[in-house]
Amino acid sequence: NYQIQCENVFFRYNSQTQYALESIDLTIPANQMTAFVGRSGAGKSTLIDILMGLNKPEKGQVLIDGRPLRSDQLTSLRRAISYVPQDPFLFNTTVRENLELVNGKATEGEIWEALEFSSAAEFVQKLPNGLDTVIGDRGVKLSGGERQRLVLARAILRNPSILVLDEATSALDTENEAKIQGALERLKGRMTIIVIAHRLSTIKNADKVVVLEEGRIIQEGAFAKLSVEK
Ligand code: ADP
Ligand code: ADP
Repeated sequence: NYQIQCENVFFRYNSQTQYALESIDLTIPANQMTAFVGRSGAGKSTLIDILMGLNKPEKGQVLIDGRPLRSDQLTSLRRAISYVPQDPFLFNTTVRENLELVNGKATEGEIWEALEFSSAAEFVQKLPNGLDTVIGDRGVKLSGGERQRLVLARAILRNPSILVLDEATSALDTENEAKIQGALERLKGRMTIIVIAHRLSTIKNADKVVVLEEGRIIQEGAFAKLSVEK
């Protein structure tokens, strides 16, 4: 799996004078969990886009496994990434079909593994947006936490080398949060995980926390060693 590095990266949108990212030096270790924290506008999404090769640094470079990212590697890099956006789209068809639609070749075992990993097996009968007529569990709408777990299952099923989660701003209840954290904990070692976090409580098990402010890294290290308010 890939190790991604940024070397003295600078980035500006269009012709803005303000840099969205400034002198970023960073290593994302393979098969560990790295968290990006910072206020809205700090540069978290911009940094993710640079790491995924969606934006090109104005200065500096991105290295993959120690070598500069080449344009002919972009397609395979993007295929290796599962990106979970804040407000993902779900088809209003069964939980299972939502999974089958991302990977038509997935075996029964792979589907169940993804469901188990994200504790989504327990609501496999429900529908993302529900139905007017509810019979038993059929037609029951997914809760916000269940939606996120389904989206996580869908991302896992693509078997990515890199899993990127843009944490939902809507606060999850502790039970759903624990289930997602548990899944990420078990996925570590198998894939590189990057989470964008708004709340520090959700990144306690990250191997590395990167704190951004106004486009710069102001702190980097293990959660326990951070000198920000927790
Ligand atoms: P968050 O990820 O914190 O929910 P967004 O990524 O939606 O926030 O936006 C972060 C900041 O970037 C906001 O201040 C927003 O106004 C600004 N922004 C996002 N897209 C654009 C754009 N296309 N042009 C200018 N500013 C933008
Ligand atoms: P975060 O993800 O931490 O909320 P962003 O990476 O979205 O921060 O934003 C970093 C800076 O870049 C902010 O000043 C934001 O307003 C600006 N920005 C983000 N997206 C765009 C865009 N598409 N066009 C212009 N400016 C943008």
